[in-house]
Amino acid sequence: MIRQLTIYGVGLIGGSLARALKQAGAVGEVVGYGRSVEPLQKAVELGVIDRYETDIATAVAGSDVVLLGVPVGAMEAVLTELRPHLGADTIITDVGSTKGSVVAAAERVFGSLPPRFIPGHPIAGTEQSGVEASFAELYQNRRVILTPDGQSDIDALEQVRWMWQQAGAEVVDMPVAHHDEVLAATSHLPHMLAFTLVDTLARLEDHDDIFRFAAGGFRDFTRIASSNPQMWHDICLNNREALLKMITRFGEELTCLASAIENGDGETILKTFERAKLARDSYCETNS
Ligand code: NAP
Repeated sequence: MIRQLTIYGVGLIGGSLARALKQAGAVGEVVGYGRSVEPLQKAVELGVIDRYETDIATAVAGSDVVLLGVPVGAMEAVLTELRPHLGADTIITDVGSTKGSVVAAAERVFGSLPPRFIPGHPIAGTEQSGVEASFAELYQNRRVILTPDGQSDIDALEQVRWMWQQAGAEVVDMPVAHHDEVLAATSHLPHMLAFTLVDTLARLEDHDDIFRFAAGGFRDFTRIASSNPQMWHDICLNNREALLKMITRFGEELTCLASAIENGDGETILKTFERAKLARDSYCETNS
């Protein structure tokens, strides 16, 4: 059991973990810390955390695990603030959507990734933000990726793994670079497409009609464009290389499709759609 967990940034992701661990009886006390008091008060009212602190030293004192639930662009500043107050045995972990940037931030702050800092990323979320949107079931049957390195402390790694398992997740380990490439393809690129599509349509002259007649498919495809802009701004700028590779590749494929449409090349169009349907149908079957 984790006797005390401190969460720096009690939003959707951190708040949902707190709820899940409490429900599982896997944590003694959850302490919240953050840049503003109001959401922390709300988190106490909702029963997500047991107390909050406004002093970082008090917030982390006696904690077995400190979880960073802030946007990836804030990680370095948060680690700098935390550094003088961490006990020798304290485990640090995070939930950031990019891992290379978080590890680089830790290296700048600590000199190297501390053995008891286990970077993590739950592959679960919604387009909502804030502690009010958090719920205990968010991680049930979802995956959490951990990116330990060769120096990682095995006890710390196993404690973080156990914590996510208690929240209902399946935990997999992955090298940092592979994480960033996979997530660029499966999460970051789709968010770029959704944001850009909605923004493009919203700036067309007849955008009122376009949105009025948008049906279920449009809603499904663009749901994620309602995600937190600041959070996604941070993700783009913190996974630049892998994301640009995917955007370029996607752009090339879209250009091929445009050429096929222009040339009336029905065979290419049909083959593209058939390959996509086959891939998605089998993906959904194996993941349902
Ligand atoms: P969220 O609900 O908006 O919560 C973010 C938390 O970070 C809030 O407590 C917020 O404090 C705090 N925060 C924001 N900017 C900060 C700054 N500059 N300095 C210090 N604290 C700051 O976001 P979330 O969805 O939980 O996302 C948190 C992390 O999880 C991000 O790193 C994100 O990449 C990752 N993640 C998100 C998802 C998802 O689908 N949402 C999925 C997996 C991983 P205030 O309340 O004061 O604003």
